[in-house]
Amino acid sequence: MWKRSDNIGVCRSIMPSFCSLLIGVTFILHASGIPWTEEKLQHSAATLTNDEISAALSHTDLGQMWERDLKPLLVVRYPSSAGSQAVQEHINTTLSSLEAGWEVTMDRFESDTPYGRLPFTNLIATLNPAAKRRLVLACHYDSKYYPPQWHGKEFLGATDSAVPCAMLLELARALDEELKAQKSSNNNLTLQLIFFDGEEALFQWTSTDSLYGSRHLAEKMEATPHPEGATDTNQLHGIDLFVLLDLIGAPTPLFGNKFQDTKPWLTRLQNIEKRLHSMNQLVEHPNSVQYFWPGVPAGHVFDDHIPFLNRGVRILHLIPASFPSVWHRFEDDEENLDRPTIGNLSKILLIFVLEYLNARPTVPTNPQNAP
Ligand SMILES: [Zn+2]
Repeated sequence: MWKRSDNIGVCRSIMPSFCSLLIGVTFILHASGIPWTEEKLQHSAATLTNDEISAALSHTDLGQMWERDLKPLLVVRYPSSAGSQAVQEHINTTLSSLEAGWEVTMDRFESDTPYGRLPFTNLIATLNPAAKRRLVLACHYDSKYYPPQWHGKEFLGATDSAVPCAMLLELARALDEELKAQKSSNNNLTLQLIFFDGEEALFQWTSTDSLYGSRHLAEKMEATPHPEGATDTNQLHGIDLFVLLDLIGAPTPLFGNKFQDTKPWLTRLQNIEKRLHSMNQLVEHPNSVQYFWPGVPAGHVFDDHIPFLNRGVRILHLIPASFPSVWHRFEDDEENLDRPTIGNLSKILLIFVLEYLNARPTVPTNPQNAP
């Protein structure tokens, strides 16, 4: 296997004209002959026009998202609870009913916990299972377990992480038409949504009492050949970028940079934020940049990306630099959510996904002479 840098290094000691020829040949080979697992490193996203952005965002509806996607998630839903079962059904039913034709799989397993052996279920929705490359959006749907001595108080984990999960459901619904078209036109790159169970520690955070779902799924994906029948590549090779959303829904979140290799994608989120701001698409958003700060380093946080990061998957971790003030308190409920922030971030994420997938929405023609 060759490396592009080797050729450029050689150039220092060879005639310049030969050099440009060599670099030219290198790029031709590169464009046509790179292994599919390296295509993600050179992926270029589309940039939608303002008309295309307006067309795509016309399908979003925060009020509808709140009622149809978010409220059914705002129940006690720790692993193996009745609420967990109801939320699984909600996610499955919502995605299975869309026109785009999602394949939803339940990854059921058991794990030892401080409370004995418990069942867990991850949900994985794949737009086009035949596509080798996947943009992954992930969240955890379990809520943190609080034992019954809290006198009937319920922890609903609105930011942690009902809102991120509702954002993924709303995205799939709002982009149903575009994703259906993208699926039929691109057999190489697709979208995958992962809803993890058991992110929270059941008793106290340790390496074994936390991240139950993501630890299980990362290991399973690593052991699953991909594409089907492959001998040297597995499902983790199929992940272009693993975007994890967590603790979203409180006002004024700031997302800093955690990983140098995916910084360009955080920069793109900032760029989308600027574009939507200039189009007046964002609510209570006084400055062109409020949320995404690729130039600001942010500390690492243990979360569902860790088992994937440890196996070489490229990560974009969208968790605010400062956790919400209600974090792991009973006040992390619907009342303390910030609707404008949730609506704005949903719009930015939606455009990010379309552009990454090179999916251009159809712009309705404007009949200027219509009566
Ligand atoms: Zn939590």
